[in-house]
Amino acid sequence: MRIEWNGGIQIEYEDVKVVLDSKRSSIDGSAFFVTHGHLDHSAAFRMKNVKKYSSKETLEIVSNFFSVKDSFPLNLKEKIAIDEVEIVPHNSGHVLGSFEYEVRTPEGTILYTGDFNTEKTKTMKPAEPIRCDVLIVEATFGSPNFVFPEMDEIGEDMTEWAKSVLRRGRIPVFRTDPLGNAQEIIRIFNECGIPVITHRRVTLMNRIYDRHGYTLEYIDEWSLEAEAIKQHGGFIYIAPKNAKISDARFEGALVSGWALWSRRTGFPLSDHADFPRIIRFVEECDPKIVLTCHGGRFNETLARYIERKMHIRAYPIDLIPTRFRKEER
Ligand SMILES: [Zn+2]
Ligand SMILES: [Zn+2]
Repeated sequence: MRIEWNGGIQIEYEDVKVVLDSKRSSIDGSAFFVTHGHLDHSAAFRMKNVKKYSSKETLEIVSNFFSVKDSFPLNLKEKIAIDEVEIVPHNSGHVLGSFEYEVRTPEGTILYTGDFNTEKTKTMKPAEPIRCDVLIVEATFGSPNFVFPEMDEIGEDMTEWAKSVLRRGRIPVFRTDPLGNAQEIIRIFNECGIPVITHRRVTLMNRIYDRHGYTLEYIDEWSLEAEAIKQHGGFIYIAPKNAKISDARFEGALVSGWALWSRRTGFPLSDHADFPRIIRFVEECDPKIVLTCHGGRFNETLARYIERKMHIRAYPIDLIPTRFRKEER
């Protein structure tokens, strides 16, 4: 089998070409698989007349942005066979409906993590390690500098900060990803009983969580209830990072793994694995080759670390095409 980066992950075995998380819309393939609803992973839904697969949750998420014609929902562990190639989705622990994909070929097994998190969170179960020959792993936080504090500790810091802002008669605003982190923040504040108002783009995602049985208490910013609460204050507001918001009472904080490196007020709550968790996951999957992706310059950093410290062949996926046969074991 052959693995190549082509604006997405392309896996070929004989006449079958499987494409995972394609960012390009002009590429041919037998079938397209999408790990989750974040836009940098789900561009395959722009493509017409090709078969696309993802979880049903992901389909609901992307139906806010794309047409989902020719798209097929997959359940966890539901196997798709294309000639001799089998594709099996497993939980990746990142956001609602996020999958990692195991691709089995007669020449070896590949696991592609998509974005993943091995931590149990307030909304997600941990990513599942799968033994494989080739592991394609995301390297967003693929540098030893990225070590996140315990999630409970981050949650406590967030509520402490919010309470202090509220005591000054102002309104704490958490700027974050509308899918994933936003729902974690809602859970954190539901537990301490502080009302949560959400930006419309966050509300749209919350409603999909609601439909899948998650209990989230929030108030949409455009509702009558929000109007009443806004008069008095005493709530937190969750908005997308780039949303334009104007209220002189607002005090903002970034919620993202990147907050570790930011000087402004922020909290490093993340739906990605940090460096030590990536390394543990690699150990558990026990691959012969590791290909790093989605990490920019950290693709190189992570691959070098894995080669030097773990003695596993590793390099960024876009460096060269990879060929693998079972005999190489
Ligand atoms: Zn993501
Ligand atoms: Zn991503």
